[in-house]
Amino acid sequence: MSDIIIEAQRCLKCKKPFCKEACPVKTDIPIIMQMFLDGQMDEAGEKLFENNPLSALCSLICPHEKNCMGNCILGRKGAPVKFHEVENYISTFYLEKARLEKAPTNGFRVGIIGAGPAGLTLAIILAKKGYKVTVIDSKDKIGGVLRYGIPEFRLPKSLLDKLLLRMSELGIQFRPNTLIGPTITIDDMFRDGYEAIFIGTGVWNPNRLRIPGETLGNVHFAIDYLKNPDSYTNLGERVVIIGAGNVAMDAGRTILRKSNAKVDVIFFRGREEVTALKEELLLAEVDGVKMNYYLNTVKIEEDGIIVEPVVQIQNEDGTIDYKNDSENAYKIPASSVIIAIGQGALTNIVKNTKEQINTTNKGLIATTSGGATTRPGVYAAGDVVSGAKTVVEAVAATKQVADEIDRYIKTKNGLI
Ligand SMILES: Cc1cc2nc3c(=O)[nH]c(=O)nc-3n(C[C@H](O)[C@H](O)[C@H](O)COP(=O)(O)OP(=O)(O)OC[C@H]3O[C@@H](n4cnc5c(N)ncnc54)[C@H](O)[C@@H]3O)c2cc1C
Repeated sequence: MSDIIIEAQRCLKCKKPFCKEACPVKTDIPIIMQMFLDGQMDEAGEKLFENNPLSALCSLICPHEKNCMGNCILGRKGAPVKFHEVENYISTFYLEKARLEKAPTNGFRVGIIGAGPAGLTLAIILAKKGYKVTVIDSKDKIGGVLRYGIPEFRLPKSLLDKLLLRMSELGIQFRPNTLIGPTITIDDMFRDGYEAIFIGTGVWNPNRLRIPGETLGNVHFAIDYLKNPDSYTNLGERVVIIGAGNVAMDAGRTILRKSNAKVDVIFFRGREEVTALKEELLLAEVDGVKMNYYLNTVKIEEDGIIVEPVVQIQNEDGTIDYKNDSENAYKIPASSVIIAIGQGALTNIVKNTKEQINTTNKGLIATTSGGATTRPGVYAAGDVVSGAKTVVEAVAATKQVADEIDRYIKTKNGLI
């Protein structure tokens, strides 16, 4: 019998499902499992899509160990149910087969900046309500990080191409290769009749180490590398990655697939403080990434990095401080260096609007809980508001914003 059928049968269909509670979009797992077992594939697919238009993608790349699978009651004493495998089967089937019908238009135009998870979710929800939706992105294809960050071996991009087909059926227009900010601004968009504008531009500005050598030709930012790994043909035989988050693991695992280079991750804290998901870390090690802990990089050179060991100092009150042992600095040879220490938001939209859109002290867009920015009619959600999070969290936040935008436009036009 197929594993996914066994998984669906193993599911206890709990009355109070902890898996559903732990899911940011509250996927109705027990009901979906039952529909699947009853052969209601189309209905189950539609239900998943209505709740989360990115269900097929989330089923592959959600942090299941923290969300549904991590909270399955069967996991307390044995193996938890792998709902995501059943979800993947149903949702990819649906994305392939469904033909979506364009809703009757209500005549109102909404502009969405950013074709990442946040922008795509909003586009689909609002198009289904009858809005004329235009999605504008600086890149040539839809997906945001789903296409230009997460590697193909974790997420087949063909899923995004299928999603684009379904979006076209709903009448959603996609305008590629258009950076909003320097040339076209939000003010221009309002002039052209958009009733509301949504900013879902994510976080693409790599954090810097601020150490000597960061501008050398053998140094790259992981977020840039992952946009198009094939353009990095000269990484050499030993690549050092600084940072130990999911982006670092994705970069390391991609390099190992695309070259014969050895890959070392250098992290300034210990294994327990690695920010990558445990599964990502373990898989990176299986692939061949070598982890190196308690090393602080202080300088980058053309043939390596200078590191200082980090030592722990126990204070009298029991707390721990960390100190660089600069006397024992040494060089780790490296042909290329990849910096993966997080990302922040780009500022080209907020800097180029007449009416102020406030940002937080971290440079993220400040919004109400419903996604309203300080400029009337402009909304935002996803990483550009929350900072780097997950796809399903971007979907969950955007669903709330969709309701707010709908209410805002209808109120403004005297419809409610
Ligand atoms: C390498 C990597 C791996 C990850 N792995 C996972 C994972 O396994 N699971 C998971 O759940 N999450 C993962 N994440 C996080 C997840 O991808 C993000 O939380 C999610 O993509 C945020 O969605 P978003 O729509 O807010 O932004 P993004 O996905 O960043 O999309 C923003 C879009 O806006 C466009 N844009 C930006 N500025 C402009 C502008 N001025 N004009 C026009 N367009 C603009 C960009 O081109 C981009 O297409 C990962 C992130 C990275 C970087």
